[in-house]
Amino acid sequence: MKIDSVKFIKGIRGTDPILNDTKPQFAFVGRSNVGKSSVINALLNRKGMAKSSSTPGKTKEINFFLVNENFYFVDLPGYGYARVSNKDKEQLVKMILWYLLESGASPRLVFLIIDANVGLTKKDEEMIRALTEGAMPFVVIGNKIDKINKSIRAREIKKLKDACGGAEFVPFSAKEKSGVSDVLQKLSS
Ligand code: GDP
Repeated sequence: MKIDSVKFIKGIRGTDPILNDTKPQFAFVGRSNVGKSSVINALLNRKGMAKSSSTPGKTKEINFFLVNENFYFVDLPGYGYARVSNKDKEQLVKMILWYLLESGASPRLVFLIIDANVGLTKKDEEMIRALTEGAMPFVVIGNKIDKINKSIRAREIKKLKDACGGAEFVPFSAKEKSGVSDVLQKLSS
């Protein structure tokens, strides 16, 4: 899969005709600071296309990027950002779950991004449960794999795989651009 073009289409906060567009949607979800925007930018091979959750006000929407005029990357808000109020955190989780389970969007595949160096947090486990209960097809991307010492990396990857239950796990580093082709492959299979 070669990325030829990427266009930001719009950010939404609720129902919108784009949700029912017939082009496939690939959704990206993850805790704030796991490197979700870095992963998306690495996959698209574009700097600064997806905005980091540390950019104020940039990530409270569901952002649609049209790729190759053919399918959407859907960047969902990051969950669990320490610097937002509990009420806002709840609101963001609600928006994520609404998109995934109620909006009618039916994404072809959901990429759940975790920090491989931190492992699965309680919030990540909750998201896995929600995706599983909603019968959503999903793949877990373990970002920041470069932070794990090479001598123990294989063992840590095995542990992460096991912790993901039945879900597929892809080791990734947005920093070193590793895992990019493994993820891009999922877009055409
Ligand atoms: P987001 O909030 O989830 O969108 O995360 P960002 O993409 O803004 O990344 C959060 C922080 O993690 C930044 O300081 C990035 O430079 C860093 N980061 C992202 N991906 C990687 C990675 O693969 N390896 C390492 N070592 N750091 C990363």
